Amino acid sequence: MVALYRYIVYFLWAGIITSCSSNLAAAQTQPCLMEVNAGEIVVGTATIAITGATIIDGNGGKPVDSGCVLIQGNKIAAVGKVGEVSVPTDAVIVNATGLTLLPGFIDAHFHLDNQHGLPALFLRHGVTAVRDPGAWMEAYDGERQPGSSVPRLFLSGPHLDMPPPAYPHDAYLVRDSIEVVHAVNRQIDEGASSVKVYFRMPPHLIRVACNTAHQRGVPVTAHLEITEAKEAIEAGLDGIEHITSFGLTLTPRRDAEKYRQAVWLDNNFRKDGRYRIWKDIHAVDPNTDSLSSYLVKKGTYVCPTLGPFEYRLENGHADTVKLMGFHTMKAVTAKFSQNGVRMVLGSHSMIPYAALGWAYQREMELWVESGIDPSDVIVAATMQNARYFKVDDRLGSIEVGKLADLVLIEGNPLQNISATRNIKRVMLNGAWINSNTR
Ligand SMILES: [Zn+2]
Repeated sequence: MVALYRYIVYFLWAGIITSCSSNLAAAQTQPCLMEVNAGEIVVGTATIAITGATIIDGNGGKPVDSGCVLIQGNKIAAVGKVGEVSVPTDAVIVNATGLTLLPGFIDAHFHLDNQHGLPALFLRHGVTAVRDPGAWMEAYDGERQPGSSVPRLFLSGPHLDMPPPAYPHDAYLVRDSIEVVHAVNRQIDEGASSVKVYFRMPPHLIRVACNTAHQRGVPVTAHLEITEAKEAIEAGLDGIEHITSFGLTLTPRRDAEKYRQAVWLDNNFRKDGRYRIWKDIHAVDPNTDSLSSYLVKKGTYVCPTLGPFEYRLENGHADTVKLMGFHTMKAVTAKFSQNGVRMVLGSHSMIPYAALGWAYQREMELWVESGIDPSDVIVAATMQNARYFKVDDRLGSIEVGKLADLVLIEGNPLQNISATRNIKRVMLNGAWINSNTR
């Protein structure tokens, strides 16, 4: 019954979007790229002027000091300096002098993992949109209660995998191309705005998944372990999740095949085995440069998710293989970024070294620790993710016509990325959410 209701809401909403004749960019997004809760999010009705803040717009340009952003309803109506933007007399003025205003953060790799309330907590920490690349739509029913403030939920449905699955509860198993076509179409019909393929899928079936999804305008992303990344990208992938997915490509062929066979026989071999192959990979190496050039040429998005792989020396004890392996993962991530690969930020939501709800900020910090410029981190977190989701016509930056998803923080994240933890206020769709952030 709930599913039927969702279905009806979804198509009503889709109808609104496609039939909307507004000249604003927000009318352009295809219905199949919508967040599943689009029709449930509170729509702002007020005229609000946020004045005095430093604006970091998400496009990577120079920040605007003493900025003014005017919000009318749920959209950004004007952006400029205080004094340049004409503020209507009925506007609610929010004095944000001394604060920094950014586009809402977008999380390309969020897992709910039965953690009720986690999406709402992420929203309070500035994450206004998440993509879950592998969960049944129903898993989110408990988060979508009327009136609950949750981010825009971009779901993919269960990831497509082959037996034996690594995560049976989050997987949909396919055996041949007919089953792949059927599964992809059905998930898009149910509201999936992306498709995720898991590591047992061979390239010829990834190709079928990509062709089917692309016919509907939907992007496909992958977690790889036993398929080489370039072969998978040739099959049509739009994005790759996890820096570790490039392990086979960056490892000498004989060692790569050893790892591949071990994971093939035992899914769990990858958990420690990945550090063993990564400790011998070099970031400053012609192999890494040629892979970067390839990724740039193909326009592939890379979501490294460093957080789940982080390993630290604790109480003087350390597994040096893991320390070295993680160090190389960071170095290759930075190298990709320097070489111009389309980097996007995903938190993996629950990770070893972040308190519950702060994985997104930890991922940002890990990028900066790796050597990536904070300005590039913010672009990856906002506008580049919007492009990855194919919703950059309405989300991802502070620009006129975009939806008003905004975060006000204290401090300058370009000097100290951890300032993104100092959340002052979060706006979703033109409406402030509960400002109790801790
Ligand atoms: Zn994941």
